[in-house]
Amino acid sequence: MVSCTRILFIFFVLLLFSGCKKEEDDEIYLDSTKTIKISDGISVDNGYHIHDSNLNLKAYDAFLKYLTSSNHFKIVTQREFANATSNDKVIISLRYDIDDDINAAIKFAYREKKYGIRSTYYILHSSGYYGITKLNYFKRNDKIIRYLQKIQNDFGQEIGWHNDLVTLQIVYNIDSRKYLKDELGWLRANGINVYGAVAHGREYCYQYHYLNSYFWNHTIGASQGFFYNWEYVPIGGEYKKIEKDNLSSYNLEYDGDQFMADYRFADVNRDNGKMWYMGKVNFDAIQPGKKVIIILHPQHWD
Ligand SMILES: [Zn+2]
Repeated sequence: MVSCTRILFIFFVLLLFSGCKKEEDDEIYLDSTKTIKISDGISVDNGYHIHDSNLNLKAYDAFLKYLTSSNHFKIVTQREFANATSNDKVIISLRYDIDDDINAAIKFAYREKKYGIRSTYYILHSSGYYGITKLNYFKRNDKIIRYLQKIQNDFGQEIGWHNDLVTLQIVYNIDSRKYLKDELGWLRANGINVYGAVAHGREYCYQYHYLNSYFWNHTIGASQGFFYNWEYVPIGGEYKKIEKDNLSSYNLEYDGDQFMADYRFADVNRDNGKMWYMGKVNFDAIQPGKKVIIILHPQHWD
């Protein structure tokens, strides 16, 4: 027989959960914009979730507010970063690697526009949102252009190329140089200006021991602790030669992995298993003139 105390306990637990649910519903939007229209028939829900007390859109919004309400910082895009200097401000460039979730990136860009911030969003061409990539096969998702136009034209952000080109070549057997020409051609024909690239790190990189930076002739890889640019990748019992090229072949201006920065912070840098977040750094204490890159993956914050 179930005791009265037990029934009462279950009742309180249910009450507690319904209370939490209510609170979560109330707080799920940061402002009155509930949906962001991408184009006719496509929109993104502007709500957010708190899966982690440090990594969430609300915490990030507070960080953007802090950066823009202080006169200690000058925020620049990645394209502007290399030549940016200042005597009295810390130069910060926010770099977003859109690995899997384009909707999360849209919400970030929306918030940045709100604070008058311009930063750089690197699209991952081998991701599910950009297309289907298989052995000897690639099919682009043409709808992605609407999202990129939204980020660039409506929210004023820079779009960059998140390079997974060595993977394309050695794992998927796709001609990475032709592919890059075709894709940049398509993006630019649709009004998306791509000036730079940064390398994506994925499971194959660890499995087969390569960096996507090896696509570039100029790579010395020093920023990632590698002082070489491998020519071959051992895969399937053979050594596959890596096809390489120069930025200028694609009218690209920069490789963000080669930027000199005083500080590089990234959410994927873990400390005791916990991801990095802004509370780990006293930004006020950084000296004027120093240059900082913050690398975030919007999907971890949504
Ligand atoms: Zn990535």
